[in-house]
Order: sequence, then structure tokens, then C-alpha cells
Amino acid sequence: MSQHTDTTYKPTSPNSKLDFASVWEYAPAPESASHAEIKEKYDLFIGGKFVKPAEGNYFKSMNPATGETITEFAEASKSDVNKAVKAARKAFEGEWSSISAKERGKYLYRIARMIQERAREFSVLESMDGGKPIRESRDVDVPLVAAHFFYYAGWADKLEYAFPGKKPKPLGVCGQIIPWNFPLLMLAWKIAPALACGNTVVLKPAETTSLTALKFAELVKDAGLPDGVVNIVTGAGETGAEIVNHKDIDKIAFTGSTGVGKLIQRSLAGTDKKFTLELGGKGAMIVFEDAPIDQAVEGIINAIFFNQGHVCCAGSRLLVQEGVAEKVIQKLKDRMESLIVGDPLDKNTDVGAINSQAQFETINKYLEIGLNEGADVYQSSCSIPDNGYFVRPTLLMNVSQSNRVVQEEIFGPVLTIQTFRTADEAIQKANNTPYGLAGGVWTDKGSKIFKVGSGLRSGVVWANTYNKFDPTSPFGGYKESGVGREGGMHGLGAYLKF
Ligand code: ADP
Repeated sequence: MSQHTDTTYKPTSPNSKLDFASVWEYAPAPESASHAEIKEKYDLFIGGKFVKPAEGNYFKSMNPATGETITEFAEASKSDVNKAVKAARKAFEGEWSSISAKERGKYLYRIARMIQERAREFSVLESMDGGKPIRESRDVDVPLVAAHFFYYAGWADKLEYAFPGKKPKPLGVCGQIIPWNFPLLMLAWKIAPALACGNTVVLKPAETTSLTALKFAELVKDAGLPDGVVNIVTGAGETGAEIVNHKDIDKIAFTGSTGVGKLIQRSLAGTDKKFTLELGGKGAMIVFEDAPIDQAVEGIINAIFFNQGHVCCAGSRLLVQEGVAEKVIQKLKDRMESLIVGDPLDKNTDVGAINSQAQFETINKYLEIGLNEGADVYQSSCSIPDNGYFVRPTLLMNVSQSNRVVQEEIFGPVLTIQTFRTADEAIQKANNTPYGLAGGVWTDKGSKIFKVGSGLRSGVVWANTYNKFDPTSPFGGYKESGVGREGGMHGLGAYLKF
């Protein structure tokens, strides 16, 4: 590929330590942003139209890689949320219910194809607004978004086959609240199954990453979806709380922090609203002595450093068997040296910008906590840009199970490392946090995969890989990682009543 032909090899002196950063220098390969249209201001998308917020307030959204304001979003108040719910109810009781399931599926297919057609624009905007590397948004997020709409489009007229002997019916109006780490993908996880099952939605994107949701609103308009089937309201936590507490909403689907998830669950107690909550995680990756070590190292790098560790199912803890610990850690350090941290729009970038100042401060706070708890901190020596929010890939070694950095979600490119001797010890350590969203195991032996897989109290367990997603697989957590499943057939059940 062209970026490889542009590389310059700089020989290091024979005595010098291997220094990948100076051996390989990549010429910048920025993705063009010229085709991506960003308006100065975005209004709310309610009842098929862009409408101004009742109280006239807007908030700024910035590019976390540069600190520059890129646009402004409307702040939806109680009356705006009310208006959106009314529009969703009207569509649910009117046009959306009167069309056939097959026609409903056609709309979803159309949306999926339009996402593919506009994939480049969506990818660029996702990287500008959220800070994730363009390689990630182009090769992972946006293709998965289209895949989710295609997958659920197929189910729209086959619900009775999914649940034989039952007569599934839509729930009604669904309130959906999503986080900033996979803005468009989380939107797809929420909207595609809801619509396939015949519901209508009011969705709120995260306040730091609302851009692609509003671009999606434009696409929905172009797709000719009946007015009010999809409504997008922007704003922060208060807007989210207005959705959660609205009396005419039948289901709440939330993805975000465990703290807010608990607040939401408390608000919903005693109501007859259905809910699914996809919350935090502290994924453990277990590497046995018989594992393919290079493959494991690459998997670990992918699991925690790509996408800045901004993944709720990120592999943020490494449990490595004693006999190979030294080797694995050295290989990890070597590989970390070759990671490029910087401009999210550059196609060479591995680790982009931290999503917001608040998250940047949280990560740095945890690095300090780690130091105070006695961890050995190792960071790659790469250069990072002067502006924007960036954190070097970091290892926290010599940590113990009770340390906060091992127990709590950091949500950044920070990996804790512990060792183990037996499979039982690894399982015990992996399970010993409040979370249970995802885990991974690397070994040559199928029997160990089964032992660990059945021992982990974790919604997903990957074997000899990590962070692989597919619309057909259910996803969700144990313990404080959440309630309910999204994705696959399980994801349909969460939007139906029987
Ligand atoms: P994080 O801590 O990762 O930023 P949050 O859980 O705070 O995640 O945010 C996830 C989503 O929940 C965002 O869209 C945010 O605006 C929304 N949110 C925050 N507080 C509340 C709340 N009290 N009720 C409903 N939604 C909320």
C-alpha cells in the first residue's frame, strides 16, 4: 500500500536499543475531510423534521484531536422530549403499524444500503467528532452499522419464525440512550432491531458525539421513512433523564456507565417499562503458556490500545501464566513502541484522541492512582501531538487484585498485568471484579478454552482473538455489566411482547 512505499528506513547504530519509532517513519496519510459536510448548527429531529429546541439552547461539540469547535447541537428540554415522544407515538399508532412487516424490512434494507453508499462521509465524521482512528471507523464501525441494518431487515417479516408458536407484537415507543465510544454503531444496535420489530424510537446520542446521529437523521429523511418513526434529540444527562422518566415510553434501552445505569434502573423500578442496560466492563485476557504468543500479543494490542481503550468490553486486564510472563511483557513493550498515536484522520494512526477532556482527566487520575498503589508504569515512548487529548499506550505491572486500577473501569489505553499459575486461579482472578461483560483466552488446547469459557462469568468469551463482533451474536453482561442482551435473535426479543 502507498503508505508503505513512503516509509524511510533509518538505520540505528549497532549498539542502540531497538527503537521502532525512529526505524520506521510513516509519511502522513490523512483521509480527506472535504466531502464531509458539517453544518454550523444542528437542530432536533422530531416528526421527520429538523426543529429548533423550545428553549433555544445549543451546546458546542469539539474535535478532541484539535480542541477546535466543529459544530453546535440543540439542547433538548422536557418539552422537546415530550414532543419527540408524541411524534413517535403518533407514528406507532398510525402509518408505521399499518404497513406490512415486509415493507418495514425494505426500509431497513434501504437504510443499510444508503449507509454503505455514504460510508466514507460517516467514517470521517465519526473520527472528527469522536477521536477514533479513521482505520477503525472505516473498517470496523461503519461496516458493522450497515451489517446490523441488513441483519435486522431480514428479521422484520420473520418474527413468528424467530419465536415459533407465539404471536410477537411490538412494544410501542422506545427511548434509547447511547454513549460516545461507538456513536453510530450503538445507534444501529438500538434502532435496527427496534424498527424491525415494529416499534418507533426517540434516541439520544452522547453529548460529545452527536454528529453522526444527526447525519443519520438526514439519511432517514432521504430514505423516506414515515415521519416520527425515528426521532433524535440531543443533550446531556438531563435530556436522557427526561426520556427515562417519560410516562408514554414503553421501553428504555441504555448503553453507558454502570453509575448512570444504576440511576436509570432505580427510576424505572415500579414502572411497567421494559429495559435493557449495557454497562461497564473490566475484561480479562488469559494467556496460557501453550498459547500462540505472537498472536496473543497482537490480540492484546488490539483489545486495549486500538480505539484508545474506549470499548466497554475492552481487554483491560492481562492475566498471563507465569512461565511466559516475561516473554509476553517484552513482546508487548516492543509492539507498543511501534504504535502510532496521533491524528485520528491519518490512515497510519493506531491510537487516536481521547474522546473528551473529562475522559482524559479520568484516565490520568487512574494513572496516578496506579502509581500510588505501587504499580510499575510503562508507557511507549512515541511522540504525541501538542494539542488535543492523547494518552500513550500504558502498562500497569505489579498490581494486585484489590487495587482500584484492577477493579475499576479506566476506559483508556491502559492495561493492567497480573500473573497466574493454574487455570482455576486465572478464572478466579478474572471473575473477581464487579463486572462481567467480556473476556478472552489464548491457548493451544480446546479443553482449556472450554474450561475457561464455562468458568468466566462474562457475557462474551473470545478464544485466541478479541473484540470480534457480528450482528448475529448476542451481547450483554453479567453482574454490574448490565441486564438483557442486544444483537442476534436475543436482541429481537428485547423489543417484543408476546
Ligand atoms: P460515560 O460515563 O461513559 O460518559 P454516561 O453513562 O455518563 O457514560 O453516558 C452515557 C449516556 O447516558 C450519554 O448519552 C449521557 O448523556 C446519558 N446520561 C448521562 N446521565 C444520564 C441520566 N441521569 N439519565 C439518563 N441518561 C443519562
